[in-house]
Amino acid sequence: MTIADDLKASVRAIRDYPKPGIIFRDITTLLGDARAFRRAVDQLVQPWAGSKIDKVAGIEARGFILGGAVAHQVSAGFVPIRKKGKLPHTTVRIAYSLEYGLDEMEMHADAVKPGERVILIDDLIATGGTAEGAVKLLRQIGAEVVAACFIIDLPDLGGAAKLRAMDVPVRTLMEFD
Ligand code: IMP
Repeated sequence: MTIADDLKASVRAIRDYPKPGIIFRDITTLLGDARAFRRAVDQLVQPWAGSKIDKVAGIEARGFILGGAVAHQVSAGFVPIRKKGKLPHTTVRIAYSLEYGLDEMEMHADAVKPGERVILIDDLIATGGTAEGAVKLLRQIGAEVVAACFIIDLPDLGGAAKLRAMDVPVRTLMEFD
C-alpha cells in the first residue's frame, strides 16, 4: 500500500448516514490512528512549509481538531469559524448554502487583521458551500486566504472547483466518488 492508500484506508465509510443513500466519510478513525493523524496534518500544509502563515482558520467542528494541529505545525494562531450564536465577542456573520437551505457562520471580527495570511481548514469539501462562506467571511475582514485544505474531496460535487474559481488554491489528500 502507498502512503496515500494507507491514509485513505484509515477513513471509515458509514452507509446510510445521516440518511438513506448517503455514504458518510468518518475521519474519527483517521484521527484515532497516531501515524495517520500526523501524516494527514503534515501533508495538508506541506506546500506552505516555510512560508509565513499568520492564522489557521478551522470550520466547526472537525476543522477545529485538524486546524489546531495544523496551526501548531506552521507556528500560526488558530481562529474558529463557528455556527451562529456560539462566539462571545463581536462577530462578523455570513449566510451560506447547505444541501437543503441556508445556515449562518460567524467569526470574531478582530480574529484576523487586514492583510494577514490565512489557511482555511476543514475535514471534507463536497458542494463547497461551507468553505465558500468561510472564504467570503475571511475576505470580508481583509484576510488574504492563502489556501484551503481538506483531507477529503468529493470532486463530483464541485466544491474544490468552486473555490479555485474564487482564486483560492485548494489542497486535498484523497478523493471519493
Ligand atoms: P459542503 O458545504 O457541501 O462542501 O459540505 C462540507 C461540510 O459538510 C463540511 O463542513 C464537512 O465537515 C461536512 N460533511 C459533508 N459530508 C461529510 C462526510 O461524508 N463526512 C464528514 N463531513 C461531511
